[in-house]
Amino acid sequence: MANPILQVRDLKTQFATEGGIVKAVDGISFELYPGESLGIVGESGSGKSMTALSLLRLVPDPGRIVGGQVLFRDQDLLQLTGEEIREIRGRDIAMIFQDPQSSLNPVLQTGFQVDEAMLAHGKPKDQARARTLELLKKVRIPAAESRYKDFPHQLSGGMRQRAMIAMGLANAPAILIADEPTTALDVTVQAQILELLADLNRELGTAIIMITHNMGVVAGLCTRVLVMYAGEIVEQGPVEQIFANPQHPYTWSLLKSMPRVDALRHERLRSIEGMAPDLLRPPSGCRFHPRCPFRIEKCFTNEPRLEEVGPGQQAACWVTMDRARKEMGADELKDIRPGAGSKVHPGQEI
Ligand code: SF4
Repeated sequence: MANPILQVRDLKTQFATEGGIVKAVDGISFELYPGESLGIVGESGSGKSMTALSLLRLVPDPGRIVGGQVLFRDQDLLQLTGEEIREIRGRDIAMIFQDPQSSLNPVLQTGFQVDEAMLAHGKPKDQARARTLELLKKVRIPAAESRYKDFPHQLSGGMRQRAMIAMGLANAPAILIADEPTTALDVTVQAQILELLADLNRELGTAIIMITHNMGVVAGLCTRVLVMYAGEIVEQGPVEQIFANPQHPYTWSLLKSMPRVDALRHERLRSIEGMAPDLLRPPSGCRFHPRCPFRIEKCFTNEPRLEEVGPGQQAACWVTMDRARKEMGADELKDIRPGAGSKVHPGQEI
């Protein structure tokens, strides 16, 4: 395998609030390889978006990156000056957001805003204009020449997101970070945008980091996935393998709660029991234990670390789903409330 283009090591991002320190990203490490498509999945509050913002040092106040390294082409982005990181943003690593409306300037022509992304990095005006038209066609905006002059409000939501993707790709970045880019769109447009990103990933070799709460999006686009829970990575590995054989109970629950085309009509979708944890006072031991059907005594006090559970697959769990299937009947479990599989409840004799 080629060398990673991005190496994140022990990244920590925190928010100082009146109630105390919120550890939004709590010591995560991962790699991104050239041209790959990596999904970061989790519920809201899992730290996935804060991870994306931390990579480009765009964490909003009062958030602070308090530790770790983000190595891009062997330089630590966390150590660069403000001017140096601005050069990297948009040129080498670009980011697109959920709501293109808030990222586009309403009083400027859409095409000109794509030009600007290149002008800011020194491309001559005529070349920028020609490339914008080429990009608008590439992201499948019909009648690109006339759409160039449209203001954002004249475009549909899907078209605006396509324009944002064109802007993201303007300087041919090595990495495109997409934070829930399809969540605000209707299902058909969502599918078109995902297909477009997959094509661009294949055609241009741009590595993609897709931030999403939706395992379906991961299945459609990514080759590798990181599953985040309460600021930590709880499982990571190749998408096919994790979908076929998840080893962390949280990943297993996420997959159970995903609509499947082959599901029986009467089979009800199971949602994950319980609330996402309060990051001001994260649970002791394994942070998933208050919601986990397979928790054992140790889970209440000892925090598990990521360990190899299959080729290229790691999970942070004292039990893992292989054991939960064998010893706790996970596959037949109808009730997935906390402790339902292991019959372990707080305060109970074990
Ligand atoms: S079995 Fe224990 S360690 Fe594994 S996810 Fe459940 S609570 Fe966490």
